[in-house]
Amino acid sequence: MLFPSHFDVIVIGGGHAGTEAALAAARMGSRTLLLTQSIETLGQMSCNPAIGGIGKGHLVKEIDALGGAMARAADRGGIQFRTLNASKGPAVRATRAQADRVLYKAAIRSMLENQPNLTLFQQEVADLVIEGDRVHGVITQTGIEFRARAVVLTVGTFLGGKIHVGLTNYQGGRAGDPPSNRLAEKLRALPFRVGRLKTGTPPRIDGRTINYEGLLEQPGDTPTPVFSYLGTRSEHPRQIACHITSTNERTHEIIRAGCDRSPMFTGVIEGVGPRYCPSVEDKVHRFADKTSHQIFIEPEGLTTHEIYPNGISTSLPFDVQFDLVRSIRGFENAHITRPGYAIEYDYFDPRDLRASLETKFIGGLFFAGQINGTTGYEEAAAQGILAGINASLQVQEREAWSPRRDEAYIGVLVDDLITRGTSEPYRMFTSRAEYRLLLREDNADLRLTQKGRELGLVDDERWTFFERKRELIAQETQRLDDAVIHPHQITEAQAIDLLGAALPREAHAYALLRRPEVSYGALAQLPCVDRPEWMKLPEADERLIEQVTQQLEVQAKYTGYIDRQQDEIERQRRHEETHLPASLDFEQVRGLSTEVRQRLRDVRPSTIGQAARVPGVTPAAISLLLVHLKRQS
Ligand code: FAD
Repeated sequence: MLFPSHFDVIVIGGGHAGTEAALAAARMGSRTLLLTQSIETLGQMSCNPAIGGIGKGHLVKEIDALGGAMARAADRGGIQFRTLNASKGPAVRATRAQADRVLYKAAIRSMLENQPNLTLFQQEVADLVIEGDRVHGVITQTGIEFRARAVVLTVGTFLGGKIHVGLTNYQGGRAGDPPSNRLAEKLRALPFRVGRLKTGTPPRIDGRTINYEGLLEQPGDTPTPVFSYLGTRSEHPRQIACHITSTNERTHEIIRAGCDRSPMFTGVIEGVGPRYCPSVEDKVHRFADKTSHQIFIEPEGLTTHEIYPNGISTSLPFDVQFDLVRSIRGFENAHITRPGYAIEYDYFDPRDLRASLETKFIGGLFFAGQINGTTGYEEAAAQGILAGINASLQVQEREAWSPRRDEAYIGVLVDDLITRGTSEPYRMFTSRAEYRLLLREDNADLRLTQKGRELGLVDDERWTFFERKRELIAQETQRLDDAVIHPHQITEAQAIDLLGAALPREAHAYALLRRPEVSYGALAQLPCVDRPEWMKLPEADERLIEQVTQQLEVQAKYTGYIDRQQDEIERQRRHEETHLPASLDFEQVRGLSTEVRQRLRDVRPSTIGQAARVPGVTPAAISLLLVHLKRQS
């Protein structure tokens, strides 16, 4: 057969996980096939057209640091950019972009179509080819067979997908797309633990029917934040504002009155929904004392009038949706273009996965994205890139890789999933990371790009930029450390203006930069410090200047805290590096309670560190495990 049917890696699904997985495997040199139900929906945002936010923006920057697509597409599709938590510490600052969904999708598709080693093919996968305990390929709905040594499954909300609007429901992968039922059936026959989750989306509104008068306008930040380390503002399309309105007591009355026809409150939906992104009926029910909830009016794009009312996701019957929308300030005459709905779908217990995202039961089969119990584009993309990397590593007979919890939010995400599992859609927050001072958006490249280069993910353009940046940070740190400012070099007024206080005695410029009130810009205004020559060149790269400056400030101001976290990591490292043999029989470990044994059996942790994070495993149990290992050695 002339049509190519043998690949190194096959990725099933062209959503956020699938596209990053396919691009990563192909970048690493593996011949990769991306099979998806529809090429038109590659990179589609199923819900709100926005990328990033707290915790999620961190993931996007990490994906970017590894050469991934999401940040670059957000720069090309973003129509309103903000830095959230801008006034707080750098660990919790996060970039968020409202995206034009058409431009975002086009950017992703262009990257996929132009990626060497990557073949796209539109077909629904109906079955996996499994021989013994390994996957060998897939079979599509029309019976075409493709073979590969590794398969990455990223089919989102499509497995057994069921859409609910009020008490009416029907099968679907998301509105307008068919579910993936044949594959769901095949997967259910495999030894994975399967559950049901649900998520939802609000009705969309024709923006021309909204009365914006009196609503709070929310423009993007100036200067406009940029997502990718390689991104520039000139890539951004036209920027527009969002607006804010809110629900009111009348809205809540309408919702309460409609709850007897809600699939959530009548038990029709069995799947558990995202606690942190609840439907409006859920919010009204759970926070009964609140008389109002905020709604962000977010444009869906530059070439459409549709808007996304963020905050009123609902699966109430359409007549209730209509009334509740019309009760909201500014929406009195709103025309709904699409009803809101909830979707229930199959997900797999992520405790059946290794840190590489390979399944424990079927060799060469990797799972990534929403099917692992997460919610969100960013969480999906983060798993996608990791699964793509590891599928490729396996094919190339190289050792699996997953970042540690102190290296990346991707590490936190995967470790949380495989160690704790999840009973509700998991989303990322900065509070999930114990070393969040180290895992900042601003240093994702310093944490990961070198590794990405070693893995074969980072191209020459990114690598050259990164190396130059790293070198300039080191040079400038040294220059500031060497620069001594004497009181006679600066007037008292200058000192108060630029440094916040008089300078009674000589000081190193770097020591001054450590003060919270001293910025690099202010310091560089002192003639005895000045800017380095490269920054003054007319052709100096604006990205480099901004990124180097930011890094100098953050590193100087937070050194003490950062060093303390590093010490803590060193203390914990011993546990992270103590491996538990895959064959370890927990029955043989003396003194463990039956409950702890069961919990350890459920997860099969690969290190003592991971065992310590299994819920219910006590420090005493860890000591018993350590004693057991010592006895065995
Ligand atoms: P998806 O983006 O769903 O992509 C799956 C891909 O697999 C699709 O391209 C599909 O065509 C393809 N596919 C499926 N089956 C097959 C098959 N058998 N063969 C070949 N291809 C196949 N996230 C939030 O953070 N907040 C929200 O409020 C939110 N609300 C949501 C509301 C709805 C209605 C939906 C559907 C999702 C919502 N999400 C929300 C979740 C978000 O869309 C997902 O987390 C994200 O898209 C998951 O990415 P993924 O790559 O895992 O799957």
